[in-house]
Amino acid sequence: MKNIILLAPPAAGKGTQSKLICDTYNFIHISTGDLLREEVKKETSLGLELKAKMETGKLIEDSIVIDLLKNKLEECKNSDGFIYDGFPRNIKQAELLDEILRENNSKIDEVIYLDLDYETAKNRIVGRCSCTKCGEVYNTLIDMQKPKKDGICDKCNSSLYKRNDDNEETFKTRFEVYEKETKPLIKYYENIVKKVDSTKDTNMVFEDIKSILGEPK
Ligand SMILES: [Zn+2]
Repeated sequence: MKNIILLAPPAAGKGTQSKLICDTYNFIHISTGDLLREEVKKETSLGLELKAKMETGKLIEDSIVIDLLKNKLEECKNSDGFIYDGFPRNIKQAELLDEILRENNSKIDEVIYLDLDYETAKNRIVGRCSCTKCGEVYNTLIDMQKPKKDGICDKCNSSLYKRNDDNEETFKTRFEVYEKETKPLIKYYENIVKKVDSTKDTNMVFEDIKSILGEPK
């Protein structure tokens, strides 16, 4: 069983690549957001407690996340591998994860760092807009992805809209959080981390990831 961590700034395609990896290698996707939401959905006493915390925007303690993670690993122990997405978020969590894996005679096998510079990441997010009708996605700051007519969908002629939080201010904050929290993890995993250039298109990035992970079984 393989344990793989993906580290990436916003807009590097982490979600897409996680999905491609899981589909190709038959790995289980582990995101703490999903673990928490699953527990809330089950309406256990912990789930109800979490729901209240999440609704008031309170931080969820590491110990809870760790317990949910342990359960998930136990539940899926026969899987071929795990992709950790958005976890660990800091050194403390990385140490806790190492500890859990060690208890299971396991370890982190690969850390893949989807490298993307600030400008490219910003353009991908700030320029993004989509069609109100068919959902087609465009980007006004990337030549290949611009609509032919400003503000109009090429496919169905409906108008395009931008999400409120796709602005430079919000992006800057997200990127700063990433730099503060994720950069130290690159150092933490320096002996196993492998960098992939994420300015390339989705398929090429995935080819690079496959060359790191090897042929699927
Ligand atoms: Zn459209």
